[in-house]
Amino acid sequence: MNFQRVVIKVGSALVAPDKQGCSGQYLLSIARFITQCHQAGKEVILVSSGSVAAGRALIRHGSPNPSIPTKQAMAAVGQMKMMANWQRFFDVPCSQLLITHGDLKDRQRYINIKNTIRILLANGVIPIVNENDTVATEELKVGDNDNLAAQVALVSEADCLLILSDVDGLYRENPKDNPNAEKLTDVAQITSAIYQMASGTSNHIATGGMQTKIQAAEKATENGIATYILSGEDAQALEQFAQGVNAGTHFHAQQAPFKAKKHWLKHTLKSTGRVLLDAGAIKAVTQKGASLLPSGITSIDGRFAAGDSIDIIDVTSQSVIAKGISQYSYRDLAKIIGQNSNQIATILGYCPSKVAVHRDDMVILQSAINSEINTDSETDSKTVTTAKTTTPVVNQISRKEE
Ligand code: GLU
Repeated sequence: MNFQRVVIKVGSALVAPDKQGCSGQYLLSIARFITQCHQAGKEVILVSSGSVAAGRALIRHGSPNPSIPTKQAMAAVGQMKMMANWQRFFDVPCSQLLITHGDLKDRQRYINIKNTIRILLANGVIPIVNENDTVATEELKVGDNDNLAAQVALVSEADCLLILSDVDGLYRENPKDNPNAEKLTDVAQITSAIYQMASGTSNHIATGGMQTKIQAAEKATENGIATYILSGEDAQALEQFAQGVNAGTHFHAQQAPFKAKKHWLKHTLKSTGRVLLDAGAIKAVTQKGASLLPSGITSIDGRFAAGDSIDIIDVTSQSVIAKGISQYSYRDLAKIIGQNSNQIATILGYCPSKVAVHRDDMVILQSAINSEINTDSETDSKTVTTAKTTTPVVNQISRKEE
């Protein structure tokens, strides 16, 4: 298997094929595949739809398209059924994570989700994610579980996204209309032509939702996550996938995941504060691949929470030399700047991290990189070495909590 951590999205049509309650018909072979992954030392996160379908028969409704509150009630009762249905296929424990778009957009909650998934995986528990339908009003909704699965793949730093449904891949034309339609086995890049193929098939039940699958694939692949659309109804396709054979459509990752993370830090995250560094700290950060310690910070600016992005500034030139995710809020950081990290627990009464910004959560801006020392790729490879040889800060936090 050509991945280490996979997010598997399972559609409602597989969980509740007759839309009247849960069934084990397709879940059995999916569960077998997940167990095979575990046996091969891989980590698996499930994103499972099906709560509305599973609860449909338990809530009175008079129309084929019930109101939103009625569907929310169906989801609430169906979620329990669905989780029980999954758990019966595994000896290892399953866990339930219900999240909304609002949770993913909030930096503090994002870090909480990330930490929870990491600890669950480290304990051999299967995280099973669904949208929190009870609270998911329009602006909070991710909208569909394909896109939710892509977001989960990002937050969990997966290297593979597997979208299982009742379609077995992307076809050039609708296979219902043309039985000889060609299935694409490999998509090197998601272009408008690819979206066009998906739209041509979106009105048909068997291939419905292809658009959102392509959106999910685009989000994941541009962040370095290889994505596959595969039939979840075909036990053999899963068996083949476990042997490294693609029986569906493979959307190729556009770059290595760690490069994608740097890109995300640099271009997507908006900084909400600044920290100013003395010359020694600037050198340690830009030339030695070090994390940013509170002792090297001379002052801070702005109101930021733990988990927010901050600009890292050279106090002499006032230029931005790096961006990174703060381990502390501005209030706590203000109390420990200029101090040795061993003093943090005494000053704050707790010490979740000895660093203000961990190296793995930091990107050095090109303008700050001394040409004789670093090129962009050297900076990245240093980060990889750091990641392999040091304990990430988040792990230190979790060990304390455990
Ligand atoms: N959260 C919905 C459910 O569990 C599914 C949404 C989707 O499949 O896109 O029924």
